[in-house]
Amino acid sequence: MRVDILTVGDELLIGQVVNTNATWLGEQLTTAGARIGRVVTMADDADAIQAELSRSLSVADAVIVSGGIGPTHDDVTRQALADYFTSELCFDASVFQRIEERYAARGQTPPESNRRLAQVPEGFEVLPNPIGTAPGLLHMAPVADRSVLVVALPGVPNELKAIVQDHVIPRLKDEVTVAPSAQRTLLTAGIRESALQDAIEASSFLAQDHFSLAYLPSSKGVRLRITAQGATRQEARTRLAQFEDHIRARAGVHIYGTGAESLEAIVGDLLRANSLTLGVAESCTGGLLADRLTNVVGASDYLRGGIVAYSNAVKQALLDVPATMLEEYGAVSGPVARQMAVGVREQLDTDIGISTTGIAGPKGGTPEKPVGTVWIGVATPEATAAHHFVFTSDRLFNKDRTCTEALNILRLAHTSAVDAIEGPPLAVQTDAPE
Ligand code: ATP
Ligand code: MG
Repeated sequence: MRVDILTVGDELLIGQVVNTNATWLGEQLTTAGARIGRVVTMADDADAIQAELSRSLSVADAVIVSGGIGPTHDDVTRQALADYFTSELCFDASVFQRIEERYAARGQTPPESNRRLAQVPEGFEVLPNPIGTAPGLLHMAPVADRSVLVVALPGVPNELKAIVQDHVIPRLKDEVTVAPSAQRTLLTAGIRESALQDAIEASSFLAQDHFSLAYLPSSKGVRLRITAQGATRQEARTRLAQFEDHIRARAGVHIYGTGAESLEAIVGDLLRANSLTLGVAESCTGGLLADRLTNVVGASDYLRGGIVAYSNAVKQALLDVPATMLEEYGAVSGPVARQMAVGVREQLDTDIGISTTGIAGPKGGTPEKPVGTVWIGVATPEATAAHHFVFTSDRLFNKDRTCTEALNILRLAHTSAVDAIEGPPLAVQTDAPE
């Protein structure tokens, strides 16, 4: 089922309002089994609305229009739809009565302009708006030998969401046959999108139409959204399970969780299960690693504390990093990262110490140590290690990404397949912009 999304509003075009309706609709309708054909944004202009509607009607099974059905003169969508389908606007008394009741509940009467909200193009059905005054409008438009579902919705995001959930998705499922599908999100860390793709796509699985895979990279790792379709819900679910097994066999240890799970919670569970305590020494992340760890309920079971050692003086005074080491290697180096981890482990008397030091950017890089260079140190009773990365030139992204890698190093240390702590001291990962 192809659905086109038309978002109407001058404010969207001039960058005054972020088009969250398009994103939200895209996500919800995809989850409901639709394929989004296109998203188009246009001005509050009847000609533009009609031109795009016409293009979509010829190719889509359903067209969702958002915005411009309010009571003011710049809201032209309602009239544009009526004109397009050559239908009259008729006053619907029951719609106006609902508006009067909403106002009456606050001891008020609706302004005269709200009568426009009760103008319904002939042949359109009213979709009640549970939280606002402008109802949605629905029409099955005959196009050649088929019918296309046309829905117009208010632009106010909460109202649009309510009407879509209550009425539009159920109707889409009724009116248009949707192939049953099943979907899951697998969460990965410590591997770049392109490397993941190389690992996964050298397979015949993805050549089959009923499987699809989306890569969603962020500073928190790459999410893999996998979808399978089938003739029945059960078949879709069975296929999804096969697809997931296939991807797990290839992405293996890089997958740390599914759905809404967080890396910090998974690391926390591992530390708790192994009765281990943790201390963090942060330079370039400035406390963000401790912040992410403490977002998890019960973090006090394993996290003892952290030291933000931003200056060299603090690295020396609180983490016992020798001045000579800082001079010889620089603050952003493997030896300093290791010593920071050793130092915090001793200072806070923990089983594990982990540290971050890097050039977050956008300034401060050199040819040997470009912006985005990061070292993460780890110290345990048995060993120490330092891991080297080169991320991007975006400061906040680098800070967040550093925390993700640090958490992932802690996770892998307790995942049997990989021994991150006792392995070779360097794990080099270079992130070229993708
Ligand atoms: P209203 O009855 O409030 O006038 P409407 O259907 O006429 O509703 P608009 O006037 O286009 O809708 O927009 C109402 C509000 O919703 C505005 O604040 C607008 O910025 C916001 N809005 C409109 N379209 C979108 C969108 N695509 N994404 C996010 N917000 C939007
Ligand atoms: Mg409006």
